Amino acid sequence: QQLIKKLEETIENFPDFPIPGIQFKDISPIFLDPKLYEEVIADLTAFSKGKVDAVCGIESRGYLFGIAIAVALEVPFILIRKKGKLPPPIISEQYDLEYGSAEIETREGQIKKGQRILIHDDLLATGGTTEAAAKLVEKQGATVSQFSFLIGLKDLKGEERLKKFGAEIYNILEY
Ligand code: IMP
Repeated sequence: QQLIKKLEETIENFPDFPIPGIQFKDISPIFLDPKLYEEVIADLTAFSKGKVDAVCGIESRGYLFGIAIAVALEVPFILIRKKGKLPPPIISEQYDLEYGSAEIETREGQIKKGQRILIHDDLLATGGTTEAAAKLVEKQGATVSQFSFLIGLKDLKGEERLKKFGAEIYNILEY
């Protein structure tokens, strides 16, 4: 609760960015405070300890914490990237955006059949990106055991969208 308070004081809010009606949360001030960063990693690591065989991080802010969680857990870290950044062979998953669609990808063979996977990102909004990541994981014969985020935006109902995967969901902060 110390941690929640510190994060609330540190994360900066920007109304109407990048477009009107969106309240943008900037997590970058966390990286100005190494002690706080360590506490965030310790908290997220405690949630997943002994429960996952690998961590998947979503580009790009999911990498900033995801890789540190994986190292602390001593398990592999797999990058989920936006379309066109990874050399073939790749596995991909398409998903709908408000306007148009997007695609995410992983290198084939990095996620192993039967693994219990943690999917991590900095923030859960509508859950569209995370849902696509979970489908990508399942396509490769692995199980999504957990989702973790620094921030969950309750009003956007991302958690409801993720329920079907039957995984534990954790966010440090909720708005
Ligand atoms: P979703 O697919 O709607 O859940 O959106 C989640 C993705 O959008 C995550 O990868 C976030 O990094 C990004 N995102 C959405 N809103 C914010 C915000 O206010 N601050 C930082 N990232 C955001």
